Amino acid sequence: MRIAGRIQALPPYLFAALDAKLGAKRAEGVDVISLGVGDPDLPTPPHIVHALAEAAADPATHRYPSYYGSPEFRRSVAAFYRRRFGVELDPERQIMALIGSKEGLGHLSFAFLDPGDEALVPDPGYPVYGISARLAGGLPVSLPLDREFRPGLGAAKVTSRTRLLWTNFPSNPTAAVADPATFEDAVAFAREHDLLLAHDAAYSEITFDGYVAPSVLQVKGADDVALEFGSLSKHYNMTGWRIGWAAGSADAINALAIVKTNLDSGQFTAVQRAAIAALDGPQDHLDELRAVYQKRRDRVVSALNAIGWSLEPPRGSIYVWAPTLGGRTSAEMSDLLLDHGVFVAPGSGYGAAGEGFIRISLTVPDDRLDEAMDRIARAVG
Ligand code: PLP
Repeated sequence: MRIAGRIQALPPYLFAALDAKLGAKRAEGVDVISLGVGDPDLPTPPHIVHALAEAAADPATHRYPSYYGSPEFRRSVAAFYRRRFGVELDPERQIMALIGSKEGLGHLSFAFLDPGDEALVPDPGYPVYGISARLAGGLPVSLPLDREFRPGLGAAKVTSRTRLLWTNFPSNPTAAVADPATFEDAVAFAREHDLLLAHDAAYSEITFDGYVAPSVLQVKGADDVALEFGSLSKHYNMTGWRIGWAAGSADAINALAIVKTNLDSGQFTAVQRAAIAALDGPQDHLDELRAVYQKRRDRVVSALNAIGWSLEPPRGSIYVWAPTLGGRTSAEMSDLLLDHGVFVAPGSGYGAAGEGFIRISLTVPDDRLDEAMDRIARAVG
């Protein structure tokens, strides 16, 4: 048996490798608090669970789902865009259901990159953009970020092979947020260089201090050149359910659909019905969710600032992105904290420019978060 070169050349998926490290420590009997993966600790709101149970009992959901997502699901996403952003989308041509947004982010590279083609990926950034480029035979090219972790488009290396520009706000891992000008510039850049702008909006509803995240599709004419990826995972505590969407350019949806219809058969219709219940139903839990994360963010930022950091509180996402202390590398810092029973993601796993940072996820209960901060204080004290 010989494994394909493209697989052998890849590093293991960051979190799969981190899980092994965490597992080994726990196997030694150490109580480790994991601030590693961004997997919400709070449950899915009950009305969504109830909608799934009802839908799963309906035999009409038991057959192959629609490839593009059910018309009802796509209409729900269109209604979300209208309500939330004032953006009109044609649910039939401009919206497609995904089996979690990660699935669509990964498959997009196969729709846009021929071997040797290039994708501009934020550095540091969510690893899937670059890894999927490589799996498709393309080349990820680091998109430098400015001091506020926004795209440094002036320094972007565009060549005749560049096809994709990736952005992600609120950002994983940097927790940076965008203003409308960020998106206007990115849309203009994509148009000028004939690229698809792929914007990952997985955290658009998790924002703090009154900040409200814009959509890239609010930029006039963006749906000619942009595709936005949405997810129910973080907004409705539904990471295990695997449902999201792509919205925007009808040509890009068409291209992505050609990849997807050949490789998968869509998401379980009952999960789509539950997602409709999430999108169309009461949204009050979102206020609670934002309040919970904002409080946790404040706990972390003030605890770290009391022991040598000087962090600005981030305005979105479920992460705190912090430089290492004492000139340590990301791996050294995360190993030191692991030795003291706290697991954080090394920033170097998100690209070369993530070296010298760690990422702290806010997805553990408050008492465990406080305990983690005490342990970090002991580790660096
Ligand atoms: N995009 C970003 C930036 C993420 O951090 C994640 C998950 O952590 C995803 C996409 C994937 O989300 P989903 O659960 O919708 O696949």
